[in-house]
Amino acid sequence: LGAYDFNHKVVLITGGSRGLGLVMARQLAAEGARLVLCARDEFELEDARMELAGNGADVLVQKCDVTVAQEVNDMITNVQNEFGPIDVLINNAGIINAGPVTEMTLHDFDEAINIYYWGPIHTIMAVLPGMKARGGGLILNISSIGGKMGVPHLVPYSAGKFALTGLSEGLRAELMKYNINVTVATPGLIQTGSPRHAFIKGQHKKEYALFKIMDSSPLTSMSAEATAKKILDALRFGDAQVTTTLPAKLGAMLHGLSPE
Ligand code: NDP
Repeated sequence: LGAYDFNHKVVLITGGSRGLGLVMARQLAAEGARLVLCARDEFELEDARMELAGNGADVLVQKCDVTVAQEVNDMITNVQNEFGPIDVLINNAGIINAGPVTEMTLHDFDEAINIYYWGPIHTIMAVLPGMKARGGGLILNISSIGGKMGVPHLVPYSAGKFALTGLSEGLRAELMKYNINVTVATPGLIQTGSPRHAFIKGQHKKEYALFKIMDSSPLTSMSAEATAKKILDALRFGDAQVTTTLPAKLGAMLHGLSPE
């Protein structure tokens, strides 16, 4: 089977206003995809829309918190009315809560499960009937290397991402016969700055310093552009899973984070 052609396809990217989501949007726009981006901050969304539209892309933005089922259902209805049915769904929206597990609150765990488990469930359940009826579609879930191996100081995140990896694998096995292909990405560090911000927010200076080094080194991290390209290539060829930048060194460094 050949590669999927994104030209004229309607692609919904959650968390498309910045970081990896926006970089994937730029690359898909260059291939002629019609883009729908959602996030909570409408100003950042508008900046993204202006940039992409300014380069000739067909783009629609939707303010939507993917953890709220009703907001997702309303968004999907709007998109279908204004743009037509969704051909490709990319669950990318994310937040990182970092720090020693003893400093994590129940709220941190709740947040991770809401964004990485319930968020994708809301979007997937909303688009699946349409994909099934139309005879196919693509779903890409952006998990993490933390959704494949335990990562210190990222326990709620890792648990949420494992849930997303499991969700993806179950869906892939079940939906293949409907020509709906599910791919899960489990990237290593991507140079978007968000992991560093997580450690600043948690005031974990030592981890911040370590992530700053890791996040700027080609040995332990990858640019958002290179990561997006590798992930989108896996998606177009229908691969089950794609991992980016995981030299043994990254794993060793992550496990080297001391408890306090
Ligand atoms: P960023 O923080 O740069 O971007 C996150 C995006 O998600 C923003 O558009 C944000 O917009 C949106 N978002 C967050 N919460 C919600 C919500 N409840 N509803 C809708 N949109 C939301 O993150 P990255 O680009 O670094 O990460 C993108 C994905 O890649 C995440 O899933 C992350 O876990 C994963 N990943 C990242 C790695 C890295 O090293 N950076 C490594 C491995 C995986 P807003 O805040 O306005 O809602």
